[in-house]
Amino acid sequence: MRPAVLVVEDETALLTLLRYNLEKEGFTVSAAHDGEEALLQLKESKPDAVLLDWMLPRVSGIEVCRQIRRTPAWRDLPVIMLTARGEEGDRVRGLDSGADDYVVKPFSPNELIARLRAVIRRARPATTAETLRFSDLAVDLSAHKVSRGGKPIHLGPTEFRLLRFLMERPGRVFSREQLLDAVWGRDAEVELRTVDVHIRRLRKALNGGGRSDVIRTVRAAGYALDEAVG
Ligand code: CA
Repeated sequence: MRPAVLVVEDETALLTLLRYNLEKEGFTVSAAHDGEEALLQLKESKPDAVLLDWMLPRVSGIEVCRQIRRTPAWRDLPVIMLTARGEEGDRVRGLDSGADDYVVKPFSPNELIARLRAVIRRARPATTAETLRFSDLAVDLSAHKVSRGGKPIHLGPTEFRLLRFLMERPGRVFSREQLLDAVWGRDAEVELRTVDVHIRRLRKALNGGGRSDVIRTVRAAGYALDEAVG
């Protein structure tokens, strides 16, 4: 099955380049030149992922992304933001608006396609499975048991909830605020650095014995469950 991608980009040359590369790699491509057109196209048919330029005429990429996340039918739709900006404040804003990932221009088509495949693969969270798996990690939801490489790992209740949340959404980067809302609840009076404390404990428990780190720290943005390199 050819995955369908909606590319939202106002620069015709870039749109042409993206379409060429994506079609060559087996994607079905539809295009929108601005945010309004993108939202109209989404109403007509839901793609497997959206590549969304940040700087768009009329409705900005950020606003399109927010609208996607506010709409129940589109909430799980993977979104990759294309941005010319690399500043940390903008990265956080992009992730806060609900983007799954972003790619800074100029980018290599191969990297973009790899990321696109990854977000599409992750878009099906294993929420109904009794056991969540990522790399050599396994979380048995009914027995509340965690193991890595077959060996049991003991976690506190907060670390368990944190790990479960990340395991259901592997690869996605979450800000401390998002983790706080998801794991502690919106009304919890907990400081942001509490998240760091529990991430540290979780890491220590998971990575003991010289095993690779499965939690990626994204500077100034947050954390992700990921196969970290280096
Ligand atoms: Ca643009």
